[in-house]
Amino acid sequence: MEEQVPGGYFGQALIVDLDAATAHTKPIGESVLRSFIGGAGLGAWLMHECCPARADPLDPRAPLMFVFSPLVGTPLTTSAKFAVVGKSPLTGRLTDALASSHFAIAGKLTGHDAIVVRGTCAQPSVLMIDGSSVSLAPAGDLWGLSAAEAERRLRERIGPAWRVAAIGPAGERLARYATISHDGRHAGRGGLGAVMGSKRCKAIMVRGHEKVLSADRAAVLAAAKELRTRSFGPATAKYRELGTMANLLAFNAISTLPTRNFTAATFEDAPALAAEEIAELRLLARSSCASCSIGCEHLYRGPGGSKTRIEYENVFALGPLCGVGDPDAVIAASARCDELGLDTISTGGTIAWAMECAEAGLLDAPWLRFGDRGALLRAIEEIGAREGLGELLAEGSRLASARVGRGSDAFAAHVKGLELPGYEPRTLQSMALGLAVNSRGADHNRSGAYESDLSGRHDRLLAGEPHVVAAIDSEDRAAVMDSLILCKFLRGVFREPFSEWASLLNAVTGWDADADELACTARRIVLAKRLFNLREGWTCDEDWLPQRFLSESLELPSGRLATLSADRLRAMIDSYYRNRGLDATGLPAVGTLHELHLDRLIHN
Ligand code: SF4
Repeated sequence: MEEQVPGGYFGQALIVDLDAATAHTKPIGESVLRSFIGGAGLGAWLMHECCPARADPLDPRAPLMFVFSPLVGTPLTTSAKFAVVGKSPLTGRLTDALASSHFAIAGKLTGHDAIVVRGTCAQPSVLMIDGSSVSLAPAGDLWGLSAAEAERRLRERIGPAWRVAAIGPAGERLARYATISHDGRHAGRGGLGAVMGSKRCKAIMVRGHEKVLSADRAAVLAAAKELRTRSFGPATAKYRELGTMANLLAFNAISTLPTRNFTAATFEDAPALAAEEIAELRLLARSSCASCSIGCEHLYRGPGGSKTRIEYENVFALGPLCGVGDPDAVIAASARCDELGLDTISTGGTIAWAMECAEAGLLDAPWLRFGDRGALLRAIEEIGAREGLGELLAEGSRLASARVGRGSDAFAAHVKGLELPGYEPRTLQSMALGLAVNSRGADHNRSGAYESDLSGRHDRLLAGEPHVVAAIDSEDRAAVMDSLILCKFLRGVFREPFSEWASLLNAVTGWDADADELACTARRIVLAKRLFNLREGWTCDEDWLPQRFLSESLELPSGRLATLSADRLRAMIDSYYRNRGLDATGLPAVGTLHELHLDRLIHN
């Protein structure tokens, strides 16, 4: 007897083989859907199922997945999102990059909860998925174009009903932190654009014909109305008014703005870069992702009058981290990263590493200096082209420092190979733990523990048990939000998050999940990712921070020293392991696997 598919799902993934230009479906049972929800969670399960053990991320056998969620296609605000999942060329570990756009809706309405792409095209191609039917079209004329231009030409050529996710020149050239873009949004971190480039796949086009039904349509409509109203409230005001750029001056004031490759945590030119100061470059335009009522995108005037989306993370990475305080240069650098298809955080992090190496005489690049806007823009061009120094820098700071040697790894600010985001670990010590233990590497979207540091509930400079509790709580919340998938900027509107998320899920699926079940699901997803990494060779040495943060203190304006010793980090990690049901080496205990049904669901 056929298993009934819960509301919001199709109960199957489309598995595409690029070698043969064929596809088949893989059924996904209700117990898996309920255990992993969708997005990042279901992606972790699919990676266990579909990725051959120890496959190199750029090997044709390594899959690239587009994973949807049960909420996609509902009127719930910010739900038009999908997760791109695979092995990161930067880390060699699991990565999931979330993005929002109409691609999520069209992709899901092909009738699948996920699209898994394996193999390699014989020549540069566009993969077209029309329902369950797949075909390849030559993409020679698109090769070398930006993702946005390739998307524009394809939709003009084939029709507006198709939605497109594409890579830019950096992905084609296998820059290890290349992005996948669509509707001007980017699945940014971890380098999955290089995985797509390794498959010679310039773009994936999807067109959907199916309908997705919710179990309780009236309840979904009521929840959507309520959530929309709340999304206009004070919890999201910051994002609507100034966007995440509002963080820049605030972070500078409390010494948590990474500057000149983490050698300082305040930047003398921060006021010049702040949203309030560059208002004249700001267009009176705000934009939003598909199906979003918040609209956090603030558009700035870029080179040649172009519109460029500016957020805290790209300004921090291409500005203070590289010592550049000229807003025109930072906007131009950000716009160029978008055109080339480069993750701005890893781009800035790798260039900042190279600037410090060049100043210390470890790299023969006398033109590359902190604060030099021309050097920043030149380095970005060379990375996108993989020419000159770009051949080295396109590898990311970890591999580049291994190649350069001579102690240059001391300047490489990464965890598991992923460059750090804009949160100084020495002055945000819950976040320090979150960055160290996350399966994806140093990332602020899978651990938002900085919020707890900034809340004043504990001393952010003195790591201890409250910091461990905060890091675990933050990771669990992210695991559920990234699997449902709802925008993190909506997080503040939920008063009882786990029970409210359970209600949304129940209205769509017809399940009877409660807060306890979702808390358990969160733990399962976090550990499923850890288990995947373990299968790929992870050891507990990878749960650590770069030595700079443990051996150099920061002096704060108050005169206090911000110090994070190796002993204190070790104590937090040990406590994290205990509280997560892991042994002293970070491996899940048998009882934990059993309790979370991971022994049954994950066979390897
Ligand atoms: S709040 Fe911003 S990032 Fe989130 S869905 Fe809306 S526009 Fe997109």
